[in-house]
Amino acid sequence: MSELDRFRDDVRAWIAANYPPSLREPLRVDSPDTPWGGRKTRYANPDVQVWMDRMAAKGWSTPEWQPEHGGAGLTPEHARVLREELAAAGCRPPVISFGLMMLAPVLHEFASEEQRRHFLPPIARGEIRWCQGYSEPGAGSDLAGLKTRAEDLGDHYLVNGQKIWTSYADQADWIFCLVRTNPESKHGGISFLLIDMASPGIEVRPIQLISGKSPFCEVFLTDVRVPKQNLVGKPGEGWKIAKRLLQHERASISTHLQTGLGGSPAGRPLAELARSYAGERDGRIADAHLRDAVARHEMRSEAIALTLRRVQEESGKQGPSALSSITKSLGAQHNKDKHELMVEILSLAGTAWDGAPFTDEEVEVCRQWLRSKGNSIEGGTSEIQTNIVAKQVLGLPD
Ligand SMILES: Cc1cc2nc3c(=O)[nH]c(=O)nc-3n(C[C@H](O)[C@H](O)[C@H](O)COP(=O)(O)OP(=O)(O)OC[C@H]3O[C@@H](n4cnc5c(N)ncnc54)[C@H](O)[C@@H]3O)c2cc1C
Repeated sequence: MSELDRFRDDVRAWIAANYPPSLREPLRVDSPDTPWGGRKTRYANPDVQVWMDRMAAKGWSTPEWQPEHGGAGLTPEHARVLREELAAAGCRPPVISFGLMMLAPVLHEFASEEQRRHFLPPIARGEIRWCQGYSEPGAGSDLAGLKTRAEDLGDHYLVNGQKIWTSYADQADWIFCLVRTNPESKHGGISFLLIDMASPGIEVRPIQLISGKSPFCEVFLTDVRVPKQNLVGKPGEGWKIAKRLLQHERASISTHLQTGLGGSPAGRPLAELARSYAGERDGRIADAHLRDAVARHEMRSEAIALTLRRVQEESGKQGPSALSSITKSLGAQHNKDKHELMVEILSLAGTAWDGAPFTDEEVEVCRQWLRSKGNSIEGGTSEIQTNIVAKQVLGLPD
């Protein structure tokens, strides 16, 4: 038996002994048991925390990271075996967080070793939850137009400004923030700063959304003192780091959207949903138009999943590139189409807002249909992704 096979057996035995049976059901979109981590997050099922802690203790939440960064230092082959066994056993991810998906990759690439040792382990263990301070009232697509000022006062920066659309800022412990350290240079005057949300001078105000749920907040920063050691990279290097982070963000959104492509909020395949609402004839969806629409949707889901896999395999060790703009906008449009189709399938029940006579699933279809509208805006709008693809992938002139 090879060493890798022995490792596989050990992993399998460990999962059997340690995976909480109460987490056997797959995690649903927007579940209160999403393992965001952090000091403020509370889970409906306490086993979410148990699983997070057990995986963290093994370093298996981030298996390839070095032990001093909170990982297990596994080789890519061992990490692949671990992921295969976790998937085969139907295990939920121990941590899903902006820290893991967006910040950690740029800390690995741009931060000092001291910063990595300080900030990465709490991300791996799910102890600190991060939010993203990029957008401002006057800087969304034109992100480099941001105005939040960070004034160099010797041993610290003094930060003043406002961020908007900051998802889960009210739940986060820290924020990774784009700030202006030089007003003379648009792109070259931006720096990348890590700020403790408990710092005096930070005020968070939630924003309501059309879907009734609100992950959004405004973040106001007034004379916030941030130690110099929280600057990642050099002053003025923030734009390079910001763009790299966005590639990781878009790759994560692509994977996230693809995972949810198949079914209804309750995990029912679209064909089953259509059969139950539009009736069935000879085991097929009775309505020919819906049958055609569901079949088209499923073929496209398959094609997008394969494209995503090809892009991931081609990027290899380099990680995400500008190609993530293609997969992100493809996934966004397809997910929006899926929600339109679900509303069509449910007909009147697709406009259910809450309560009887509608089921929980019908209410969720309606709310997630509204939420899906943001897919082509978050992480950069689809128009901006098309611009990136034109310039960086196809090499077209401005
Ligand atoms: C669900 C969701 C979560 C988000 N979470 C966060 C977060 O956590 N942190 C954060 O910082 N931000 C977050 N955002 C904000 C998001 O990044 C911005 O909304 C987005 O970048 C667009 O900026 P804007 O809203 O200012 O729109 P604008 O930039 O004003 O764009 C308005 C319209 O003009 C189009 N447009 C603008 N410029 C061009 C151009 N050059 N070419 C073609 N078309 C153009 C856009 O495509 C869009 O259709 C989130 C947004 C959503 C929807």
